[in-house]
Amino acid sequence: MDTNLKVLMVDASSGYYRVNRYRVGDFFGPVDLGLHLSAKHNSLNIGAGLLAGSIFPGTNRLIFTGFSPCWGGFYVSSMGGAALVFDNLGINLLSLMGRAPVPSVMYLNRLHGEEVELELCPVDPAAVWGQGRGGIYAMMDHAYGLFGHRYATDPRILAVGPAALATDFGAIASVPITKGEISCVDTWAGRGGFGTKMLREHNIAAIIYGGTVVDEDFRDRKVADQWFVDKYEKRIAAKDIEATAKYRFVEKLETGGTFGVNFATLAGAMISFNYRSIYMSEEERLRIHKEFVLDHYLKQFNDETIKTKQQKTCGEPCGAVCKKMNHEFKKDYEPYQTMGPLSGIFDQRAAEKLNHRADLLGFDGISAGGVVAWLMECLNEQYILPEDLGITGVPRFSPEGFDVVADSMHNAEIGTAILDAIIEKKGVMDFSEGARKFARRLSRDRGAAVMDCFVYNAYARTGWMVPNQYWTPGALSPMAIMGKYYMHYGSEFVPPRELGRKNADRLRKELVMDNMGLCRFHRGWGEEMLPEIMGSLYGLKDEFLSNIAFTAARINSRNSSIYWESKRNVDFVHQFLKRKRDVDGNTDPALQTWIEFFDRDPGEAALSFWYEIHKGITESLREFK
Ligand code: SF4
Repeated sequence: MDTNLKVLMVDASSGYYRVNRYRVGDFFGPVDLGLHLSAKHNSLNIGAGLLAGSIFPGTNRLIFTGFSPCWGGFYVSSMGGAALVFDNLGINLLSLMGRAPVPSVMYLNRLHGEEVELELCPVDPAAVWGQGRGGIYAMMDHAYGLFGHRYATDPRILAVGPAALATDFGAIASVPITKGEISCVDTWAGRGGFGTKMLREHNIAAIIYGGTVVDEDFRDRKVADQWFVDKYEKRIAAKDIEATAKYRFVEKLETGGTFGVNFATLAGAMISFNYRSIYMSEEERLRIHKEFVLDHYLKQFNDETIKTKQQKTCGEPCGAVCKKMNHEFKKDYEPYQTMGPLSGIFDQRAAEKLNHRADLLGFDGISAGGVVAWLMECLNEQYILPEDLGITGVPRFSPEGFDVVADSMHNAEIGTAILDAIIEKKGVMDFSEGARKFARRLSRDRGAAVMDCFVYNAYARTGWMVPNQYWTPGALSPMAIMGKYYMHYGSEFVPPRELGRKNADRLRKELVMDNMGLCRFHRGWGEEMLPEIMGSLYGLKDEFLSNIAFTAARINSRNSSIYWESKRNVDFVHQFLKRKRDVDGNTDPALQTWIEFFDRDPGEAALSFWYEIHKGITESLREFK
């Protein structure tokens, strides 16, 4: 087993590289080491967990860390399956520093017993994005055409699209390659804008990597099965099948995957029309959910994807087969929610059109959908005009008389035009410094209403993040990293101080998985078993856990979360609280007190609520207690 973490330190400005070693025990994985390297070099760090290549399912997630262009603070993003091939390089982490003199494709290869080979090949990104399949797909094809023939086994490619150049929320995409075939199962390090970081800060448009290094990955199934039997009275495979059921198929719901299970169960908690559903009656919300989603959007998904069993993995052997496909379109809940109901789209053809455009352009899909939905409301309310955005037409942005097929497609076309206008910087559309700065400038010209209907988490001076798509205050918490599940997103009412503590607890548990490169869909055993595994394999269980607590505190020490800037954020929480009382029948006196406070003085109540969450976070994530 590795006793050192091997880091390939690459200076893109000179092409110079070396391998640094860090003792396991001082650091444990891509997050704590990434935090250390980011603080030292402002690097983009891409790495695998210690269990990559092992027999444990879900341990081949590729983890990206660095200071995020859109969030403004340290961020962690991850991509399914991509560490399986990365492990063949015989390193644990790539740390990218400096800026290449010209835009380049980076080639990394390593044959067993030899040194890492690295080359930088100049590329004209705009020309490549415009050819063949376009955008990120064309960039992958280009990198594969340049270097694919040099690999003894299938490599993998990380690529960015035009959104990485034009905005601060460009993502990094990759797809598994099998027997020389580039598949259509996109995997994404979407959140945090690391595509923008890779291209704008390092001038790297794609990285192709692979090799044939065989290292001492843990592969003793008999021993590992015994650990699981001792804990769960089940072997690994059986426990994993149980833990990942939601992502495969849920008998009772007759659907599966994040899209299927969430849309089947959200009911009146579903968010639509740029969060305007929070102002509707429960009856109206249930009508939208029943008529537009259960009877159409979800039904299409179940007929086309679930019944035909179009399901794939992210590239690693995994029984969860969570990638629910309709031919080349992959249906995940969050992008198909922001570029679905949130944008007034309730039809699969329309959602596929908009999601595919966002993917091709290389956007973080969740944030792209949040921006599209916000601009649609601005157009609908005439805060801005189509010509301001360099587009034509206005969306149909009300459930009244909504034609679920025709109006969804109409809205998808407007959404697609908005994304194209962002890339081409049409009209007032300049997102190069992010949506929050753009919104601020626009609201100075067009009035505060523009800003007031944009829902985002704010960080430091310009950082922003479209929240995870759950109607719960946890999604708007002042955590040091927002936009992923480093917070409590349960739908029950939790008093805000307690919510802050739960957020902190969630952060530590998620770090256990991210620092080991485990896909969180396996958290049903991962949170508990990973520290045990560190104990069994390295004798470092206590050190691992104290390192996690220390890393969480260090991440939180930079917490520059900013109090909610838009009125819609305040209303999101206020309406949530009322729904808990009026719909769920919650009679908790603490809930009633908060509702009365919000009714009486929403501004002051929201500020207090926000600070109470913050207190719970701060008291839980102190380095010294
Ligand atoms: S659950 Fe999905 S993303 Fe996670 S390892 Fe399995 S196939 Fe990959």
